[in-house]
Amino acid sequence: MSKPASTSPTAENTQLKDIVAHAKEYGFVFQSSEIYDGLAAVYDYGPNGVELKNNLKRLWWEAMTQLHGNVVGIDAAIFMEPRTWEASGHVAGFNDPLIDNLDSKKRYRADVLVEEKAAEYEKAGDPARGAALTAELGRLLTENDLAGVKQLIIDEKITCPISGTAKWTDVRQFNLMFSTQGSAVDSEAPPVYLRPETAQGIFVNFLNVQKSARMKIPFGIAQIGKAFRNEIVARQFIFRMREFEQMEMQFFVRPGTEGEWYDTWKAARRRFHEAIGLPAEKLRFHDHDKLAHYAKAAVDIEYEFPFGFKEIEGIHSRSDFDLTQHQNLSRKKQQYFDNDIDPATGKPYGNYVPYVVETSVGADRLFLATMCQAFQEETITEGEGEAQTTKTRTFLKLHPAVAPIKAAIFPLVRKDGMPEKAQQIFDDLRFDFRLVIEDKDAIGKRYTRQDLIGTPFCIVVDGQTLEDDTVTVRHRDTREQTRMPISELRSYIGEAVSFKTVFAKL
Ligand code: ATP
Repeated sequence: MSKPASTSPTAENTQLKDIVAHAKEYGFVFQSSEIYDGLAAVYDYGPNGVELKNNLKRLWWEAMTQLHGNVVGIDAAIFMEPRTWEASGHVAGFNDPLIDNLDSKKRYRADVLVEEKAAEYEKAGDPARGAALTAELGRLLTENDLAGVKQLIIDEKITCPISGTAKWTDVRQFNLMFSTQGSAVDSEAPPVYLRPETAQGIFVNFLNVQKSARMKIPFGIAQIGKAFRNEIVARQFIFRMREFEQMEMQFFVRPGTEGEWYDTWKAARRRFHEAIGLPAEKLRFHDHDKLAHYAKAAVDIEYEFPFGFKEIEGIHSRSDFDLTQHQNLSRKKQQYFDNDIDPATGKPYGNYVPYVVETSVGADRLFLATMCQAFQEETITEGEGEAQTTKTRTFLKLHPAVAPIKAAIFPLVRKDGMPEKAQQIFDDLRFDFRLVIEDKDAIGKRYTRQDLIGTPFCIVVDGQTLEDDTVTVRHRDTREQTRMPISELRSYIGEAVSFKTVFAKL
């Protein structure tokens, strides 16, 4: 796979570069198969990355399934019967409009080129022109007028960032689904797709779940899993990957109530992002200009990344589109019998195909937003008078509930029984938290190493510990130290890192 095309770097990208470098150096994210120069838009999570990502996934999972009595989970397979993707509209319609520059031979998403131009107008103080351009693009795409999109690119004098020319090919549609051969014996068999979203695994299991878990409408089905999209413009690190992970929840409701549920979930999902530490002013809702084929209403929750406000989660009111499509193609009824009484008729609501409100967040995008938000550089002044020095401290201000390691234990020196005491504390707390023992280098260096990976607490075992069983606990964000009995560590750390601190805000 060729390296992705990219526009020239801007000053705003500098911070992302720092985060990418940090993520690699401290074991959060590596380029996939890096020793072979990598595979474009595919990434691996390292020892700290996998902990952080798992914590985010677990938080989402518990916020969905544990906090709501009417939301249950599933784990569906990546491969599905190919007709699933016909029914869902992905075979015919999951396309991106592509355009190639004849001079640079680089390929772009035509809609992205136009959107970037619209953003330029906005930045240059002409938001009305930007909005008009976006609206025109939306109209052309809805009408599938690809010649019109090309004309728009020419009229707007959009040039290739590499060659600088406007020698463009026609715009054509490119399907984003990866496919593979499913049958070893039948070469005529239709291809098997790697799912481009997890949602369809939920839809085709709607009745299995409803019946086996005896769910009553309204209820939700949650799932976390891999999804694959052959993204054309894959850039901005893990923001747009070809293999990524989604956390999706389909909420099945009685037709006519979808508006209320859409508003409820929209607000709930925003609260979730704020609760894990993304500040309100860096989050915004963005209503879709162009609705997907299945959507009645759709909104994105956007986070302000170093490269601008971008989607981290989509909330979609999908009507009965998916279940009806599956019902038609599979010829299996996808109906629910609602025996609640309709006050208008005095009779049960009866049989219907439920409507769906979907919340869909990318685990990787949430991870990136969390990293971007946590990455802090502060100047610290140390010493007095002539001995005064300033230095920059880099640390990850992660919410303690998602930090990869909750506490590091440092024996002050590697003698006098301190390492043994540190080990005792480790053994005592390891059933509760992920901990490390660090005994190399000066204490200052050890603090720095933990700051860089966002460990909220460093516990120091010193001479006094051996006398009175107290330790110092150093706080990552303030660098302040508190002395406390070892016996209090469990509740002290436990309170700070508990998921309850997040859930209480939901
Ligand atoms: P975009 O417009 O950025 O391509 P989308 O609207 O196609 O995203 P959805 O289909 O709504 O995205 O998918 C739901 C969520 O899945 C997104 O909000 C995002 O967090 C995540 N996601 C989608 N595509 C990717 C990708 N290529 N890499 C990483 N995460 C993705």
